[in-house]
Amino acid sequence: MNIQNFINGKLENPISKDWIDNYCPSDGEVYGKIPNSSKADVEKAYQSAKTAFKQWSQTTLEARSRILIKISELLEANLQRFAEAESKDNGKPIGLAKTIDIPRAASNFRFFGNAITQFASESHESAGQNAINYTLRQPIGVVGCISPWNLPLYLFTWKIAPAIAAGNCVVAKPSEVTPMTAYLLGEICNEAGLPKGVLNIVHGLGTTTGQAIVEHPEIKAISFTGGTATGAQIARVAAPMFKKLSLELGGKNPNIIFADCDYNEMLETTVSSSFANQGQICLCGSRIFIEASIYEAFKVDFVEKVKALKVGHPAKNTTKIGALVSKPHLEKVLSYIDIAKTEGGKILCGGNKVVVKGFENGYYLEPTIIEVKTDECRVNQEEIFGPVVTIMPFKTEADVLQMANKIKYGLSATLWTNNLKRTMHFSKQLQVGIFWVNTWMLRDLRTPFGGVKASGVGREGGFEALRFFTEAKNVCIKY
Ligand code: NAD
Repeated sequence: MNIQNFINGKLENPISKDWIDNYCPSDGEVYGKIPNSSKADVEKAYQSAKTAFKQWSQTTLEARSRILIKISELLEANLQRFAEAESKDNGKPIGLAKTIDIPRAASNFRFFGNAITQFASESHESAGQNAINYTLRQPIGVVGCISPWNLPLYLFTWKIAPAIAAGNCVVAKPSEVTPMTAYLLGEICNEAGLPKGVLNIVHGLGTTTGQAIVEHPEIKAISFTGGTATGAQIARVAAPMFKKLSLELGGKNPNIIFADCDYNEMLETTVSSSFANQGQICLCGSRIFIEASIYEAFKVDFVEKVKALKVGHPAKNTTKIGALVSKPHLEKVLSYIDIAKTEGGKILCGGNKVVVKGFENGYYLEPTIIEVKTDECRVNQEEIFGPVVTIMPFKTEADVLQMANKIKYGLSATLWTNNLKRTMHFSKQLQVGIFWVNTWMLRDLRTPFGGVKASGVGREGGFEALRFFTEAKNVCIKY
């Protein structure tokens, strides 16, 4: 099946006439083509967005809200179709697509459809000067949204929804590795009555289509989620053009386990936080530090649970671990397992490709636990972004805090303890943007979302996203 760009409310082939293969990760087959859109395609999308902006920016909040909520309802009504498409395109278990990815994409539209009606700005009475200042928050104009493959529609809509809610028009590009649900979104937007040109979706490679969006002189803000190296490249291009930038980048998150935690809950959650979505979530806890007194017991229990995870075809309801997203990604993850061995890491379970009967060319890998001797080894410092975690014991709070922070990334961290004083201490000392205590991935869409250090710049979520997608203008009136 061939995918088309969505420009000015219409699905169309790229001007570039350039196409790339779309692979199905569960069987390794090419199952369609996607446009590799050129500068000319991006320009066309920009012109359509620019034209739509005049009216859309003047639409009442109630009308915008109603359309966003309608998109959300239509996604819910099409849950099965979207979940199947996401699972096939990405390799993730259908159960996950049905309970997490698509429902969350629907929530993104509902949340920002409601949030925009509550978004307010400040005013400052300048006492003694007979003046009042207020902040006018205006949409930026045409903005660019670029998203990755791991949570395709979930992260694509996490940007688009606040951008259009705030009155902007959008040129968006999903990952070329997982374009399918973004393609399907176009028709839903039309059905919901989103005026043509408000959302334009161009498909293609990062270095062609993505770069053309970032380089476009009139696209004034870029919201990007993806790898740290790509984020740095985007910043190099966008900074001299003084574009507003939101960068959500890589992570290598610590999962810190103290002996005084609720053990069974910790164990269950740690299996998910390590391997959900084949470990391909930027928030996965891929560095597990365990207090020495429970280390041996944890090791036995964790390995037992992980060995029981069923690797299989993503369309099967019993599958817990589906296929990795692509062949190059599988090869990258396998190369880290080799690096672990040369670094003296001990593979406690997994480490090998899995052959799934009938789907022998699919990109399957066993969930893998590596016991490392030092936190400084490469498998513990570099983002692997697959079903691979490291484990090692620690003795003191100070030791584990130092190891947790001694890394270039700073996205999220999880702490397992029932000690309040320790919790408060860690909440202040950990260099991360998101800190979970006795839980993982519990999300409230009002909260600021993002990382520090090499994990990104800026925050998404709630009013933070609406602030990003608007320009603040101070108006001072003397009376
Ligand atoms: P990626 O950086 O390779 O690609 C992300 C997107 O950027 C894709 O759409 C790609 O086509 C585009 N792109 C690539 N080069 C570009 C360029 N030069 N200019 C403009 N666009 C370009 O990342 P990926 O492999 O798709 O995703 C995995 C990465 O995303 C991991 O590092 C992961 O941690 C990160 N991630 C971060 C978050 C977060 O919220 N912080 C969430 C999910 C994923």
